[in-house]
Amino acid sequence: MKIGALTEVASGECRVALTPESALQLQKLGHDCVIEAGAGLRAGFTDAAYQAAGVSVLPSAQAVADAADVVVKVRGPEPAELDLLHEGQTLISFFWPAQNPELLEQARAKGVTAVAMDMVPRISRAQKMDALSSMANLAGYRAVIEAANNFPRFFTGQVTAAGKVPPAKVLVVGAGVAGLAAIGASVSLGAITYAFDVRPEVAEQIGSMGAEFVYLDFAESAQDGAATGGYAAPSSPEFREAQLKKFRELAPDMDIVITTALIPGRPAPKLWTADMVALMKRGSVIVDLAAERGGNCDLTVPDEKIVTDNGVTVIGYTDFPSRMAAQASSLYANNIRHMMTDLTPKKDGVIDHNMEDDVIRGATVTKAGETTWPPPPPKIQ
Ligand code: NAD
Repeated sequence: MKIGALTEVASGECRVALTPESALQLQKLGHDCVIEAGAGLRAGFTDAAYQAAGVSVLPSAQAVADAADVVVKVRGPEPAELDLLHEGQTLISFFWPAQNPELLEQARAKGVTAVAMDMVPRISRAQKMDALSSMANLAGYRAVIEAANNFPRFFTGQVTAAGKVPPAKVLVVGAGVAGLAAIGASVSLGAITYAFDVRPEVAEQIGSMGAEFVYLDFAESAQDGAATGGYAAPSSPEFREAQLKKFRELAPDMDIVITTALIPGRPAPKLWTADMVALMKRGSVIVDLAAERGGNCDLTVPDEKIVTDNGVTVIGYTDFPSRMAAQASSLYANNIRHMMTDLTPKKDGVIDHNMEDDVIRGATVTKAGETTWPPPPPKIQ
């Protein structure tokens, strides 16, 4: 089969879904690869590098769509991109079917089989295809780098001839994939790092990474933030009050706050309120990784960096993985390559779209003129 990668059309998006390295791996599965001219350039991959890896470079998105059996991209398709596709073709990209019912219907009506990378079940066997995690890992790391770039002091403490410098204090709110990556980056830069999550089971992971878990004055048995499937559920009003009280105590002492708290299917919980920002020191930085879902901080403006009257920088960028486009593309293209491996079980260049396979079934949102989202719950846990 022919795998074709498109240039991302979303403004500012620098990632690409195929790299020269992933193309070599796809060829080992028996596939040919094509790419739109210039598609990899913003991620640092030239057309010549693709050609050297045996990829045919085609002049336009339409030429790729016409040639490919499987079209790969990063961001969910725009309606005009779906228009380029034809019946029987497979599209693999992020899709967010719950938020994009019209796109889902367009793909179904076209007879396109859409595989949503955001719908890959989060089970152990599927970790290699888990693009949500690979991108969240990058975002967590990059959040710390952006914070450091906007923080007018060292992260690590120093004693030098010119004076003694205290280490920065960093609070990470939410210790999922992004939060744990942020903790790792913050600790390795030498900051004293604290972290909080409603799921008490992450306390051990936080401790093992060299950060300190923030406990609340709240009976642990009453901590109701952990729901099924390892994800968080909304907190009770009492728990939320205890959490906000603790954050108010911490606010004057924290130099950097990185918020990553999300609850599936809901807007991001507001956890870092305007009065907490007002309590922070001049020069402090907040990076809100939940900005795209409304933000954890009251003052976050999605895609913007603002500075408050009391000198606190609040960063609400939503494109952290794209800011590390080379790395993000390599990891994402690898996630796609693993998906293709499962779709090509005999490594003979022939796709077997096996809807009995929990992972393939979970990620497939339309198939042969039918909407197949939402999927039944996975059998494997
Ligand atoms: P996420 O992005 O949905 O949420 C980020 C974090 O915010 C979570 O840790 C959540 O508990 C936390 N949170 C929610 N409300 C909060 C609040 N009020 N205060 C503080 N923190 C709050 O999470 P994620 O990174 O996608 O990971 C979610 C779960 O999925 C984790 O248990 C993770 O280990 C698991 N996971 C499993 C796999 C796998 O097995 N393949 C892969 C990735 C993640």
